[in-house]
Amino acid sequence: MNTLILGAGYAGLATATSLKPDPRMTTLLVEQNNYHTFETRLHEAAAHNTRVTVPLVPLLRGTGVHWEQAAVKDVNVDTREVTLKDGRVLTYDTLVVALGSTTNFYRIPGLAENAVELKDIQDADEIFHYVNRAYASDYQGHRDIVVGGAGLTGVELVTELARRAEKLTKARGLPPMNIYLVEAGPKILPVLDDALRAKAQRTLDEYGIHTLTGHRLMKATADSVTVQTQGGQQKVIPAGKIIWTGGIQARDLVKGDRLEKGPGGRIAVDEFLRARGYPEVFVLGDMGLALNEEGHPVPTTAQHAGQQGRVTAGNLRRLARGEALTPYVPSTLGEFVSLGGLMAVGWMKLPWNQKLAITGGMAHVMKRASEWKWRQSID
Ligand SMILES: Cc1cc2nc3c(=O)[nH]c(=O)nc-3n(C[C@H](O)[C@H](O)[C@H](O)COP(=O)(O)OP(=O)(O)OC[C@H]3O[C@@H](n4cnc5c(N)ncnc54)[C@H](O)[C@@H]3O)c2cc1C
Repeated sequence: MNTLILGAGYAGLATATSLKPDPRMTTLLVEQNNYHTFETRLHEAAAHNTRVTVPLVPLLRGTGVHWEQAAVKDVNVDTREVTLKDGRVLTYDTLVVALGSTTNFYRIPGLAENAVELKDIQDADEIFHYVNRAYASDYQGHRDIVVGGAGLTGVELVTELARRAEKLTKARGLPPMNIYLVEAGPKILPVLDDALRAKAQRTLDEYGIHTLTGHRLMKATADSVTVQTQGGQQKVIPAGKIIWTGGIQARDLVKGDRLEKGPGGRIAVDEFLRARGYPEVFVLGDMGLALNEEGHPVPTTAQHAGQQGRVTAGNLRRLARGEALTPYVPSTLGEFVSLGGLMAVGWMKLPWNQKLAITGGMAHVMKRASEWKWRQSID
């Protein structure tokens, strides 16, 4: 069985590293980078230049999976062809698509042109170097940072940036940098319950972060954003750097006449994570629209992407042996949001569907433990 795995993020890498050499299988992993990125830690790289990538080659030893560094241009699931940006065309018997998501700028005027995203290590580098530059003694212009979107990424980023800004302010004796967190919705971190959200908000306040919930970002220029309150009042905030974490959409590289796409362009999949109408194509992670037992979309998280990869590896082995596939049953083990340094808030799942809320240092340990578990699973 000739299998292509596209993308070595959480879903694609979990698939590849859960495979073992098998004479019935030829598997090629195609990834544009020669490393895997711990995307869930990109905010740390943006604030502190923390290393959040790991080389791919050692991770694939003992898996029987070959790999090729190449960028996918498009995928045609009707003709079973994957076209690479270098012009080559690859074919497959079985395909695993795990190319992740891109930022959704919602066509807000000037935003795509003037805002940096936080999707890869280059984005993190840009933010890190900006903060350094903004604290140089000869820096001219606005220094403040506006982060759009108060979901997990936005909140994790502003708290780490605030810690770094605090250190630089003290070390260089310069006035503090203002950090604005702009959110159109009524609250930060909508995935958390009220008590945890209140704790997170208190931490943002302690850092001096200006949280503007109920403020829609209307327009961005090279050095400002315009926001609008629910009452229709507009305000211009000058900014040296604008960062947008307010939305994602599935990477739009797969074409097929019978493909069904849902919210955010995610490709609808069946209980085995196969694109509906294409039983030889598995679509995982941020690109796939898997449903949970209640029929709700499975969240776009690293946790679920990794689970999907492991289930798919098992199903690829079953396919090669001519056995029946095992369905994917999503399970959310917990959710933790880092709030800078050793602070975090979140919850973990207990038996009988109970949730245990955890805050502070212990929540930070839980978050680190889940990252460590991921690292162990791919090593
Ligand atoms: C700052 C931040 C913090 C986050 N924190 C958390 C968290 O705490 N917990 C959590 O569960 N989730 C978190 N997430 C979400 C999580 O990172 C994503 O849901 C997860 O990465 C999705 O996995 P994936 O495998 O679908 O895609 P990705 O991990 O994004 O992998 C996609 C891969 O495809 C490759 N690729 C893309 N295009 C091409 C191409 N054309 N050709 C070849 N290769 C290509 C990319 O290089 C990448 O390696 C966070 C995200 C961000 C940005």
